[in-house]
Amino acid sequence: MTILVTGGAGYIGSHTVLHLLDKGEDVVVLDSLEKGHAGALQDVPFYQGELRDEPLLDEVFTKHSIDAVVHFAAHSLVGESVEQPLYYYENNVLGSHALISKMVEHHVKHIVFSSTAATYGEPEQIPIVESLPTAPTNPYGETKLAIEKMLRWCEPAYGLKSVSLRYFNAAGADPKGRIGEDHLPESHLIPIVLQVALGQRQQVQIFGDDYDTEDGSCIRDYIHVMDLADAHYLALKHLKQTGSSEVYNLGIGQGFSVKEVIEVCRHVTEQEIPAVVAPRRTGDPATLIASPEKAKAQLGWEPRYTDLSEIVAHAWGWHSNHPNGYEKDK
Ligand code: UDP
Repeated sequence: MTILVTGGAGYIGSHTVLHLLDKGEDVVVLDSLEKGHAGALQDVPFYQGELRDEPLLDEVFTKHSIDAVVHFAAHSLVGESVEQPLYYYENNVLGSHALISKMVEHHVKHIVFSSTAATYGEPEQIPIVESLPTAPTNPYGETKLAIEKMLRWCEPAYGLKSVSLRYFNAAGADPKGRIGEDHLPESHLIPIVLQVALGQRQQVQIFGDDYDTEDGSCIRDYIHVMDLADAHYLALKHLKQTGSSEVYNLGIGQGFSVKEVIEVCRHVTEQEIPAVVAPRRTGDPATLIASPEKAKAQLGWEPRYTDLSEIVAHAWGWHSNHPNGYEKDK
């Protein structure tokens, strides 16, 4: 299969490209490199540009016989989306609209879409199953949900089949250390804690310790980025074999509090890692834990890395060897 990966130079996108190549698939990458990194690219055909660049997309779909698209390209910062909702709708929704329109025009029938647990908002129950109501609490989650819905309507109209994968908290790095996580600015918990371990930050802030959880800090379901990557490969196989459009949660089904994550990081890095309690971050639900049962049953997906220490160890492998990330780009 030849697979077009949009956002293939980003964190989850680049790990998925590696995995697809390991599985023997042909990959073409499209990325604006606004957030992604040239250093994360593999030796595959690469097009730098925006999804709304129609001539560029025509070129990609004409030059390559694309069988399926894995669509990551998006802005993904919750806080930024609250401050600049129109920018998020423009980039995420209009960008996806342009991509999907070109897929229809060029008769490409399968897409795996990078969605998020943020589509659920404050969930009514834990663990979260796919049938729970969706009620995003920020524009980022709203744009992802809007794209899921756009895809749903495209199936009866144009025969476009889709799998939307709702990620919980992506973490870790390629176990072989080839690529890893590098955001600017960094806002995610594990990389921030590891930057403290590296001496790049003085301390980590725990955003709220008065939540209704055992130790008062927020609980999240951390899923290894290579397990996410494998789910994309399996979703492509699913589309090829059965063709049914679906939505799946991707998490390990187990939650860790912010305080527990910091403790695991202390253990893995053998560093003290000072932490202070800070006010709650707006829009953070107390607990988000996936039920991954549907993905396990229907895709045959089984997360390989269910030990948080191992996930953090892989992230630490990357961060300690690349303290400045993909520094060549900077
Ligand atoms: N968090 C924190 N301090 C930080 C960054 C994150 O306490 O410096 C908390 C955050 O409030 C959330 C959890 O860590 O409860 C995971 O946050 P992250 O931004 O990594 O992912 P999110 O859950 O927002 O997708």
